[in-house]
Amino acid sequence: MLLAILSDIHANRAALEAVLAAAGPVDGIRVLGDIVGYGPDPDAVVELLANRGATGVRGNHDLAALDGEGVDWFNPDARAAIEWTRHTIGETTRSWLAALPERLVDGPFTLVHGSPRDPTWEYIVDAGIAGENLVHLATRHCLFGHTHIPLAFLRHEDGMRELPAASSPLTLDERTAFVNPGSVGQPRDGIRAASWLLLDTAGPTVTWRRTPYDIAATQAAMRSAGLPPRLIARLDRGA
Ligand code: ZN
Repeated sequence: MLLAILSDIHANRAALEAVLAAAGPVDGIRVLGDIVGYGPDPDAVVELLANRGATGVRGNHDLAALDGEGVDWFNPDARAAIEWTRHTIGETTRSWLAALPERLVDGPFTLVHGSPRDPTWEYIVDAGIAGENLVHLATRHCLFGHTHIPLAFLRHEDGMRELPAASSPLTLDERTAFVNPGSVGQPRDGIRAASWLLLDTAGPTVTWRRTPYDIAATQAAMRSAGLPPRLIARLDRGA
């Protein structure tokens, strides 16, 4: 089975459309949270995902868009964007987001936005934090997002080791792997193109993909919505 693993879409419709086109006729779509927030098209993004039968987990921005939870932790730009999102999304979007669990088990994979220890909020930024999360993982592997950085952490005898997305395709074995697809809608690794993952459950094998999209279209929609200029500019840098 071929699955498209998408994280941190952040209401970027142009990026999601480009990724779905590049993915082609996959057997399923799994999302790792932060479907909305920052970007200009929350309703359209949720509609696209719902129409494709996507399943997955919620992120901290999705939660904040529903009821303002955790918004005190947001920086001023993220906060302004989430307030805009909260007042913009329709009832269909709201109920689709509200139905997402914080954690989902799919075969040998646990899907979370942040980490197995703290599914909504914790950032797995290094091998040490990934290692601390091993005891909280009930399946062999973990798919996570939240940092917007495509990479993997692989278990070795002396601990977890970071593996760059460039080592793709990567066939997973009995060693536990924490795998991050990167961000569809707001990449932060210095590359502007949308970052996502193809998962062939038969290996299982993961392949990181980069897909260019119409950044100017997203930026124009953000300007019309009155979203913060810094959030608009960062899409150009992929950072
Ligand atoms: Zn995010």
